[in-house]
Amino acid sequence: CLQTEKILHLKSHRGRKVRVVREHYLRERVPCYSSLCQADCENDGKVLPGDLTHYVVPDVGVVVDFLEILEFRELQGVVFTQTACQAVQHCKGRRQYNRLRNLIKDPRHDCVLFANEFQEYSYCPREKGESQEKWQTRCVYSAAVWYHNHLAGMKDVVMITEDQDAVAEYSSLNAGVYVISDFLQNFWPELQPAHELYSSISQALQEKESESSQKEYTEHLPAEILEAGIKSGRYIKGTLNINKHHDEASIMTEGLSNKNNDPSWAVLVCGNKNRNRAVHGDTVVVELLPKSEWRGKVTALSEGEEKSGEDNESKPMPTGRVVGILQRNWRDYVVTFPPRDGTQSQSRNSQRILAVPWDRRIPKIRISTQQADALQDHRVVVRIDSWESTSLYPNGHSVRVLGRAGEMETEVQTILIENCIHVPPFSDAQLREMPVNSPEKPWRMDPVQVAERRDLRETHLVFSIDPRGCEDVDDTLSVRSIAGGKLLELGVHIADVTHFVAEGSLTDLEARIRSTTYYLADRRYDMLPAVLSADLCSLLGGVDRYAMSVMWELDAQTLAVNKVWYGRTVIRSSYQLHYELAQALLNGEPAEVPELARLEPEEKDAKLAELNQALETLTHVARHLRAQRDRGGALELEGVEVRAQLDEQRNITALVPRQPLEVHETVAECMIYANHWVARKIQETFPHQALLRRHPPPRQEFFNQLVESAKAMGFTIDTRTNKALADSLDRAVDPQDPLVNKMLRMMATTAMSQALYFSTGLESQDQFYHYGLALDRYTHFTSPIRRYADIVVHRLLTAAIAVERGADSGRAIASNKELEELAQHINSKNRAAQRAQKLSTVLFQCLYFKERDPQTDPQCVADAIVYSIRNNGLLVYIPEYGVKGPVYLKNREGQVVAAGEDGSCEWQSGSLRHYSDRISTTSSCGTSTFRLCDHITVRISVRSTSSHADSLNLEIISNKPHRSAEPQQPHSQGRSQLVQEVVRQAEEAQQQAQEKAARRPKLSREEREFSQSKTPNLYSLLEEVRELALMDLDTAARVCVTSASY
Ligand SMILES: [Zn+2]
Repeated sequence: CLQTEKILHLKSHRGRKVRVVREHYLRERVPCYSSLCQADCENDGKVLPGDLTHYVVPDVGVVVDFLEILEFRELQGVVFTQTACQAVQHCKGRRQYNRLRNLIKDPRHDCVLFANEFQEYSYCPREKGESQEKWQTRCVYSAAVWYHNHLAGMKDVVMITEDQDAVAEYSSLNAGVYVISDFLQNFWPELQPAHELYSSISQALQEKESESSQKEYTEHLPAEILEAGIKSGRYIKGTLNINKHHDEASIMTEGLSNKNNDPSWAVLVCGNKNRNRAVHGDTVVVELLPKSEWRGKVTALSEGEEKSGEDNESKPMPTGRVVGILQRNWRDYVVTFPPRDGTQSQSRNSQRILAVPWDRRIPKIRISTQQADALQDHRVVVRIDSWESTSLYPNGHSVRVLGRAGEMETEVQTILIENCIHVPPFSDAQLREMPVNSPEKPWRMDPVQVAERRDLRETHLVFSIDPRGCEDVDDTLSVRSIAGGKLLELGVHIADVTHFVAEGSLTDLEARIRSTTYYLADRRYDMLPAVLSADLCSLLGGVDRYAMSVMWELDAQTLAVNKVWYGRTVIRSSYQLHYELAQALLNGEPAEVPELARLEPEEKDAKLAELNQALETLTHVARHLRAQRDRGGALELEGVEVRAQLDEQRNITALVPRQPLEVHETVAECMIYANHWVARKIQETFPHQALLRRHPPPRQEFFNQLVESAKAMGFTIDTRTNKALADSLDRAVDPQDPLVNKMLRMMATTAMSQALYFSTGLESQDQFYHYGLALDRYTHFTSPIRRYADIVVHRLLTAAIAVERGADSGRAIASNKELEELAQHINSKNRAAQRAQKLSTVLFQCLYFKERDPQTDPQCVADAIVYSIRNNGLLVYIPEYGVKGPVYLKNREGQVVAAGEDGSCEWQSGSLRHYSDRISTTSSCGTSTFRLCDHITVRISVRSTSSHADSLNLEIISNKPHRSAEPQQPHSQGRSQLVQEVVRQAEEAQQQAQEKAARRPKLSREEREFSQSKTPNLYSLLEEVRELALMDLDTAARVCVTSASY
C-alpha cells in the first residue's frame, strides 16, 4: 500500500465551502468487476458481461446531472467511477447519492462501481492550479484508460461527457478509449424516452442558470444547528403531512409515543411561508411559534372526507414554522399541463409552465418545456429538481407523457405512479429463471426432490375448496383418522413457491419490490410470473405438485393438539371443489362431482362417501377451532361481502354477495389455524427475527362515534374488549333493516387500526397480539403466490425445520433489523395497493356516471343510508353502487336543504342544528330532521376537474327512501355492470383513437405498456376490506375470479 494525502476543496450542496484532507491509500489490486478480467481481481457480486461492444464511463458532469438517464436498463456496461460518485454525494446531497448507490447495487442494471482513486495506476493527484472540474475529468479519463489496459485491450471504453473541451483534449490520445459527447445520439438513437428526458433535464439546467435572486423564503438552517436544536429541545423533528382536504399542514412528530398517529402530537404549520418549501412527506425541523400565534384545525365536513376525528370545535394547538429540512422525500409526481392562456413566462425557445400536480398536497411545479402546446391537458410524470429560497415554486423536469387527462388508461397509470407502484412486464432475464412447462417440454418433478419430501400422493386424500373456476389454487386440505380412530390428522398444504423462487434471484427481487399482487378495478398485476402463479404453484386437481405442509395430530375426542409436523411434501389433489359444491355435499343435496363423473356407480359411491366423510370431519374441527377463537374474542367485522362471477370470456357478469356458506368459514378457519401455528414455530425458533403480523387494539376514542350512533338507535355497544365488542355487535340487529347492523360493523371497522407485519425482535411479546383474530401470534403463510410476506415466512419455516433437525439452517437468516425494514416495506406496499384499489374503484364509478345525464338518467338516482352526522351535512352509503360520500345540507350561499311534505328537497334560506345523532334544518317550510340510519334518495353526478381525479357528488333529492319498489337483485349488480360498461366505452374510444392516430403523432406511446393481465378484477372484494382487512385477506383472496354459473 502506498499512502498519500488527498486535499479536497468541496462545495456542499448547501453552498458552503469545505476543505477536506484525507489520508489516501493506494492499492495495486482494486476489483474491476468485468467478466473479461485477466488479472484475477476479486470480483465479488455483480460483474459486467463480456459480450457488450464497449463499456461506458460517464464523467462527473454526466453522473451528477443526468443520473436518471443512466438508470435506463437499456444502458448496459456502465462503469461508475468513485470520483463521480463522490461528486454526486457532495453536490447533490444524500438523496441523490443513495439513488446512485441503489442503482449500482441493483442486479437488474448492468453497471458497476470502480474505486479508481484507490487504484495505484489510475489515480492522479491534483496538480497545482488545476481546477477541480479539470482534475475530476482527468481522473475519470485515467480510469477509462486503466480499464482498457486492464482488460488487455479486449474491450473498447467510451467516456461520455457533456464537456466539449474534454472531447477536444482527450478524444485522440489512446486507441481503444474514446471520449464523446452526444452519447445518446451515438449509442442509443432508438431510445426515445431517454432522449425526451435528456432534453427536459437540459432545459431545466439552463433555466436554473437564469434564476433571479430575490428571496421568497427564509434560508434553511445548516444541519449542525438543526441537530443541536433538536437535541436541546428547541426544535422538533417530524414528517410534514398535508391534509388532503384543507391545504392544512401538520408535523407528525416521530417517536415511540406516536405509533397511532395521535393528533395531539402534531404541530400545525399554517401557510406557505411557514411551510418554507417543505413538500408533503419531507422530514423537517420546526420551531414553535409563541402561544399567542397558535391556531386550531379546520373540522367542517369537506369533500370526500370519511374518518371522523375528535369533536368539532378546533382548539388551538402547537403551531410552528419550518426552519430546515433533514430529508427530502420527493417521488415521481403526475402533473397536468394547464390550458395555454398566454400569460405564462417565456424565455428563449422554451416556456416555463406551472404544472398542477394530481396530488393536491403537492405544490405547483415549474417546468421548462418546448412542448407546452402539445402537452396541454395531458398528464405527465415529473420530478422536482430543486426549490431555492428565491423561487416561489419548485423547479422540475418532465420524465414522460402518460396521455390525455380523463382517458381511462391515462388515469389508471396515474393511480399507479401516484402510489409508487411500478409493475413493468417481467423481463426476459427474470423469465429465464423460471421453469418451463409447455406441451413440448412438460415440467416434471425432480426425483431428488421427491426423495427428500414426504410423499402424500398415495396416503392422503388432498382436496381444495375455492370459488368456482379459481385458477391460482394456493392452498389444499386433508383430514384423516389415524391410530385406530383415536387421533385425527388435519393437514394444510400450501404451494411451495420458495422452491421455485430462490432467495436473491431476479424473480425474488422483483416480487420483493412489488410485495403483493395488485388488484385494480379492471385488471391485476401479478407478483410472480404466470408460469408459477397460474401453473406450477397452483395446486390443481390430478397433477403432482410440491407443497409446504402443516399437519396436526389431534385427539379425536377433545381435538387437543397432540403433535404438529411441518415440512415439504409432494401432493396430488384429488378434488378441486368449489364452495357451492362442497356445501351441497355437506348438506346431503344431490350434487355432481366432476372428478367422479365417469366412474361406475359402485366406485363412485365409495369415493363420494370418503369425500363426504372428510368434509364432515373438517367442518367439525373448524367449528371447534372457531369456538375456541370466539371465546378469546374474535371479531366478525364488515369483511368480504361480494365476489366476481365471470363468463367464459372472463367478463364480469355479476358481483354476488357472499353466500353464508359454512364451508367458507371452515376453509378460512383452517388457514387461520395454519398461519397461527407457523407463527408459533418460527417465533419459537427465531425469537428475535421472525416475521409476524399483529393487529393492535383500537384506540377507545375512535369508538365514540360508533357507541353514540348505536345508542341513538337503541343498541348498546361495549368496546372494552374484542370479545365484548363482538358480542354487542352481534346483538345490534334491527329486524326491519339488515343494513343497520352492516352500518355498525362498518363503523367498527373504520375505528380499527391496521394489521401490520413486524419483526419479533422489535416488540415485546405482549405486542404480538392479533386483536381481530384473538390470537397471541399470527403470520401469513397460506398465500405465497400473491404475498411476499408469505414467501419470507416459508423461508423462515424452512430454516426452522433445518434447525430442528440439527442441521445448520444452510445460510444466515435475515437479522432483526433487515427483517424490520422488509416488514416496513411490505406494509407500505400493502397500503399503496389498498389506496390504488380504492382510487381505481372511484375512477370507474366516475367514468360510469360521467356518461350519464344526472337530471334524466334513472341510474343516477339511488337509495342511500346515513351512517354519520357532521356539523354541515351527512355521510351516506349507497349500497347499490358501494359508494360512500358526503351529502351537504348547507351550501356556500348559506341556504339549507328543506324537505317538502312528499319528501322532495330543495335549497331554501334557513338554519341548521346539529346533534350527536341527528341534524335538523329549519326554513319557511318547517323543520326537517335527518337521523342515523335514515334512508334518503340521492342524485349522483360527477365533479370534474382537469388536474385532479374526478369525484362523485351526492345531492339529496328526497328525505324518503328511493322508490325502487321491486325486490333488489343482489346488491352489487350495479357495480359489475358499471365496470363492464366503462371498459366497453374505453375500448370503443380507444378504437376510434387508433383510427385517428394514423393521422396525428402519438403522444401516449406508453399506453398499456405496464398492463400484464387484463383479468377482470376483484376490486369489489378488496374494496370492502380495504380499510383494514381484518380477516387478513385470507378469505378475500380465496374469493378469486370465477366463471359464470348461470
Ligand atoms: Zn480485473
